Amino acid sequence: MGRRAGGQTGVAAGTASGHRAAKRADVVVVGGGVVGCSIAYRLAERGRRVLLLERGHLAGGASGRNGGMTGAGTSLHGGSAAGRAVAALTSANLDLLRALPEEVGTDVGLRLPGTLDVAMTPEQHAHVVASVAAQRAMGLDVRLLDRDETLARMPALSGAVLGAAFASGRGYLQPRSLVHAFAAAARRHGATIRTGLAVEGLLRAGDRVVGVRADGAAISAGEVVLATNGYTRSVLRELPAGALVPARGTVRLTAPLPPLLPHPFGTNFDKEYGRQLPGGRVLFGGCRRYDEDEGLGHDQTRVTPAVLDGLARCLGDLFPSLRGVRFERAWSGIMGFTADGLPLIGRCQALPGLTLAAGFNGSGFSWAAVTGRVVADLLADRAPGFDLAPFRPDRFAAVEAGWANPFTAGERGHADVAPASA
Ligand SMILES: Cc1cc2nc3c(=O)[nH]c(=O)nc-3n(C[C@H](O)[C@H](O)[C@H](O)COP(=O)(O)OP(=O)(O)OC[C@H]3O[C@@H](n4cnc5c(N)ncnc54)[C@H](O)[C@@H]3O)c2cc1C
Repeated sequence: MGRRAGGQTGVAAGTASGHRAAKRADVVVVGGGVVGCSIAYRLAERGRRVLLLERGHLAGGASGRNGGMTGAGTSLHGGSAAGRAVAALTSANLDLLRALPEEVGTDVGLRLPGTLDVAMTPEQHAHVVASVAAQRAMGLDVRLLDRDETLARMPALSGAVLGAAFASGRGYLQPRSLVHAFAAAARRHGATIRTGLAVEGLLRAGDRVVGVRADGAAISAGEVVLATNGYTRSVLRELPAGALVPARGTVRLTAPLPPLLPHPFGTNFDKEYGRQLPGGRVLFGGCRRYDEDEGLGHDQTRVTPAVLDGLARCLGDLFPSLRGVRFERAWSGIMGFTADGLPLIGRCQALPGLTLAAGFNGSGFSWAAVTGRVVADLLADRAPGFDLAPFRPDRFAAVEAGWANPFTAGERGHADVAPASA
């Protein structure tokens, strides 16, 4: 790998020239997305000497290319132990996000008007009904709305809507602001953040991970944390193929419009989602089923005409007044999809010294803040107070990683958001 012009911010921990990374850190965090920056913040806050390495720029991965939707719970894991663990962690995440502006002195654009999960077909409606029941049983504030109640909340929706789940206290934030808020807070606590520096591999002493190799140089560390999301297998070859797969997602942005969509929304088994931004533009994402291989296994950001057409069609099906709307921009980003749709969070038992916080599928902003706390606890040998068993990073090692990710199930089977007559 060639040398890059690395940028350095934060407390100097490098050599005398200041142009190279520190040779030693308590903890090296790899990845400058929302998860890596959150972890760096919480570790530095507790006095650990942290070095964060990002090969591009902060928020240059999925964390700077997403819809910014954030919430708690999931409509996809039912009332299982995993579903309860997801609900506990994501609820704690939301609490941390609410407290963050005061804590770090930065407005990250968090607005929580409540979100709608809209059903346009009988299959989607059955799913929404079941997921409301499961989420309510876990204590989440989610209500089933009938057609008229749904239209009253969001009059721009198609009259073909069958109902919706309304989740109070969920909404959206400004993703880049959050990443930079975590990074700034990490620096204030003494973390060093190096951008433009790719980690090429892990340093090992026997089974133990003792640092990383970056820019041809060895950096030793007491602990290494990979927050590399969809790219994790390029650093950690031991991760079974299929356990964590890059997945390309695409969003489109309309020209500014008058106020139309008071609530962020999702539909079609969480496969499509959107919201109206403060400036009036409507952001709409999803339709991976029209991408090559449904976007799975692709780590190159590019947009394809089939996905763009699909997004325009789906948006018009949901909101008839948006048929033919002018789009200003589109972009894609690479997510990390796991074989079971749950993230990998925790120490790797087989590789002491290595911790993973990766594979946040389509919802990293509902996880990042609490993941910082959890990882800081784990690295201090303190119990984080959550059931982390469903997220064990080694869970795919013993068994073949069968692909049962609910975010991908039935992509092709749900080819259109709404019936053609809508
Ligand atoms: C189009 C789209 C829409 C989305 N919408 C939403 C949404 O509305 N709500 C939501 O919660 N989530 C959404 N997501 C998912 C969300 O963006 C991710 O779950 C989240 O950003 C994951 O954060 P991360 O820090 O784990 O990963 P990333 O932001 O991808 O960060 C990983 C970082 O690691 C760096 N890296 C990788 N390998 C190396 C290496 N070898 N050396 C150094 N650095 C390395 C990468 O450059 C990258 O910056 C969306 C994603 C996409 C693509």
